[in-house]
Amino acid sequence: MKKHQSQFILLAFILAQIAWLGLLGLWIYWYVSNYIFYKEVGKGYLIPSNVFVDNSKVGVFVIGIIMIVGIATAVFVIFRNLTVQRKITGLYDNFIANITHELKSPLSSIQLYLETLSSKNIPPDKQKEFYSIMAKDTDRLHKLINSILEISRIEQKRVSHNYHISSAEIINKLIENAFKNFRLPENVTKIEGSVRGKCVIDKDAMQIVFDNLTDNAIKYSSPPHSISIRLKNNDKQNIIEFSDQGIGIGLKDQKTIFNKFHRVYNKNIPNVKGTGLGLFWVKEIIKLHGGKISVKSEGLNKGTTFIIELPIYKTSKILYIKSLLRQTAKKEKFMEAADGE
Ligand code: ADP
Repeated sequence: MKKHQSQFILLAFILAQIAWLGLLGLWIYWYVSNYIFYKEVGKGYLIPSNVFVDNSKVGVFVIGIIMIVGIATAVFVIFRNLTVQRKITGLYDNFIANITHELKSPLSSIQLYLETLSSKNIPPDKQKEFYSIMAKDTDRLHKLINSILEISRIEQKRVSHNYHISSAEIINKLIENAFKNFRLPENVTKIEGSVRGKCVIDKDAMQIVFDNLTDNAIKYSSPPHSISIRLKNNDKQNIIEFSDQGIGIGLKDQKTIFNKFHRVYNKNIPNVKGTGLGLFWVKEIIKLHGGKISVKSEGLNKGTTFIIELPIYKTSKILYIKSLLRQTAKKEKFMEAADGE
């Protein structure tokens, strides 16, 4: 839970305590004063008409109602936060289970191959194959650990991207790279249209975006895969539509898949392993570029389209984009100075 959130709950709790203690005091005061009042009426010292003109009693009543509303609001705030907290804990538990699996399976595989290599006489060509599998597993572990570190840096606002003005064609290049990284044959991918506006991007970060979307398009569809990209732009944005013909996403889940740790559980969906971090990472990178990502799907088994909108340099979000360029220039100057020393 974020620090300001827990402080807010603590404040709500303290205010609720003050409100109900105040209310209790008020009621005691009200009861005692009425008791004395009616006792005097009973004894004939006071005339009953005073009952209806005593403003202090109306005041006590109004303050009492305000305090009850205050207590109810504080209880609601605390209850809502606890529910959110419970949900996050559940997602976090799932994440731990998933990440343990993701870490354990390549490690077990490496261990097995190492044991085999050291205990048996393996022919050289087989040895080569084993080393190549181990290299792939190590790469998988490396990527996973890097992704966790990078996401944590983004959350702590310590991310260090290098933003540069790029020609519009860079988008095509990065998408093609992603297809190559996942060894997708040309006949299953299609890129239509083009974007025209220059944009300010960090190429490595944007590569992560397209790699993640490609990885998901493969994971959440059965072969033969089919991925089609539509590129277009308006005056202010380059728009990239990234579509697959896979298992699709139900309407309810479309609202939450970009949240950290969120994964969709459905018994009709094949049990694909993952951590629920990929789309969160993608969304954060796009946000840092001043852009937006959304998802569209007609429902289960009807494919999925991710829509990315990136601001075009000089026509949209000028101040923000310039601040990205300034940040990078400052960083590069600092690096140059450090190299010169
Ligand atoms: P992971 O793939 O590790 O679970 P992501 O953050 O990349 O995590 O995705 C979150 C969830 O969104 C996935 O678990 C999956 O249910 C759903 N999802 C993502 N991409 C697709 C897609 N192309 N088609 C269908 N479902 C998807």
